[in-house]
Amino acid sequence: MDKKLYVISGSSGVGKGTVLKGFLDRNPEFMLSVSCTTRAPRDGERDGVNYFFLTKEEFQTCIDNDKFLEWAEFAGNRYGTKKKYIHQCLSEGKNVILEIDTKGALQVKTKMPEAVLIFIAPPSLEILEQRLRGRHTEDEETIQKRLHEVKQELARAEKFDYKIINDDINKAISELEDIVKNA
Ligand code: 5GP
Repeated sequence: MDKKLYVISGSSGVGKGTVLKGFLDRNPEFMLSVSCTTRAPRDGERDGVNYFFLTKEEFQTCIDNDKFLEWAEFAGNRYGTKKKYIHQCLSEGKNVILEIDTKGALQVKTKMPEAVLIFIAPPSLEILEQRLRGRHTEDEETIQKRLHEVKQELARAEKFDYKIINDDINKAISELEDIVKNA
């Protein structure tokens, strides 16, 4: 099987992190790309592991020097994937997964049409809101911003190759495995 780039997007709180972790535990030949961001680390997050945490100035310099395969603004912060990092992973023979927002995913598809885009959707907007609040990691203003993004994301998701509805975590992981095997 050729090494491929898979792009996974989903609304905040949809459980995509849990689906991905379950998938990666069962499929260690896949690696998750580490993105750059200007947002502050949450408790327990480490530089170089969860993200490369950059200042706004450092991020801007990367944009100016055309270092990103894609980048996007999300809920007041910038997030981006370094070109060099992805090409290095693919040339080392790894299957790479990007966990990025829908705007970034569509940019990747334009530049690398062979990338497989997968959207993880919530069973309903109400359930999504409950999950987002249940995390207790964001303040109210941030939650409101993130909910506002959700509707736009669902519209962009129409252009994705596959959609998984996350109403059962194990079912979602199995669906992801089926997609990856057959894509
Ligand atoms: P969080 O702040 O919760 O870690 O991530 C917020 C959003 O940014 C999520 O939808 C996540 O998928 C997205 N994101 C993370 N890394 C990247 C990236 O490199 N590029 C883009 N476009 N979005 C990203």
